[in-house]
Amino acid sequence: MKYRCKSRFGFGIAALVVPFAWGVIVAAQETAGPNAGIPAPRYKASTNSADAAACRDRLKQIHDGITAFKTANQRLPNWLSELSPQYLDAGLLVCPYVARIGDLRSWRSGFRDDVFQDPKGSPSYAYEFNDRPRRLWTGVTKTWNEHKHRQIERMGPLGRDAVPIVRCFAHDPVLNLAYNGRIYPSGGVWEKLYEPQFSHDDHHPESLFFHEPLRVDMSRFPPRAASADSRLLDLSSHYNAYIDEAWLPWPADSDLKGLPVGVREFRGTRFDARGIIQLKGARLLAPYPIVVPGIRIGRACTNLHFLHATRVPSDHVTEVADGSKVASHVVHYRSGAQVEIPILYGRDVKEWWYDPLSPDHGPAKVVWEGENLASLGWDRKIRLFHTTWTNPWRDQPIDSLTLVSAMAETAPFVLAITLE
Ligand SMILES: [Zn+2]
Repeated sequence: MKYRCKSRFGFGIAALVVPFAWGVIVAAQETAGPNAGIPAPRYKASTNSADAAACRDRLKQIHDGITAFKTANQRLPNWLSELSPQYLDAGLLVCPYVARIGDLRSWRSGFRDDVFQDPKGSPSYAYEFNDRPRRLWTGVTKTWNEHKHRQIERMGPLGRDAVPIVRCFAHDPVLNLAYNGRIYPSGGVWEKLYEPQFSHDDHHPESLFFHEPLRVDMSRFPPRAASADSRLLDLSSHYNAYIDEAWLPWPADSDLKGLPVGVREFRGTRFDARGIIQLKGARLLAPYPIVVPGIRIGRACTNLHFLHATRVPSDHVTEVADGSKVASHVVHYRSGAQVEIPILYGRDVKEWWYDPLSPDHGPAKVVWEGENLASLGWDRKIRLFHTTWTNPWRDQPIDSLTLVSAMAETAPFVLAITLE
């Protein structure tokens, strides 16, 4: 049976994690059927050609202002408000249609907010080359400006003609002012116009900054309690992501801040959770490892307990079949023998985001539920699972454990491992 991450939006969790990397979330209309209950935005995008023409004129003026700014300062403005008063009147930073309906704010709901967070002004236009930083993965942060410049480089000769610097979402279709001044219409996801020459993944920060390695600061992980039982494995040297910080570029603020840190009991089993070991998956392009070897065990045991989950890393609509293998951990016995611990989707673990209106936890065993700022924004919750593996050779000492991703569509992550 196929398991599909259902959402009230009618597409997968990945789809809700959305339309494009650094793009927009298309505001949903109130409808019957699967989208029932989603509030309609108070504004309606204009389909009027005169409105679009007026906005195009305005975009030309903005382009002239940006060009003058660049000539004088040898750089782009960090935000559109930097253009005024010298290079452009601040009043020209509001689309004529938006000015007419007199609603600068409400129509933004449902759209990706970063591009609107001008610290000084209130332009209605989205500014895509702003200097707002985004966490990509552990220890690596890039600004929108850096990301968009990399996108231009990636597209080669097409780049300056394609990558929008300013966008107006108040129209249907959306109006885009490209880096070189060209103005063109598109859907919410302009990148679709350039498929298949450039795939969705080509525009992703994971593809554009693939050469940036993780930069893990071990001092960021809370210290292990002196009293921690040795059966609660010390994973300190293997963690590659922090509990209190998002560890993939999208969505921002999708972290595990709400998780109780340190030695805690999760429905009858004690774990020492102070960090995250994220493994790669077929869709997870960020530089997390496929294999994490050398987790020291040094004794015989009856069971191994895992506190873990999986995540669809970006904006793909992903179906994960129940029973598909997401990890293939390996137990190394002192005798030299090895045993695989298959981690199966559905039975052992599931996607960490879920819809609280239709929780689909089982048969995997959920032992912690919470939320983060990103999940709250989508009316979702987050969860962690507990899997028990029964050791077939319980009298044989185990030297170590290797965590191995099965490179499935959804990528596994492990917070804690306990011996019994
Ligand atoms: Zn406009």
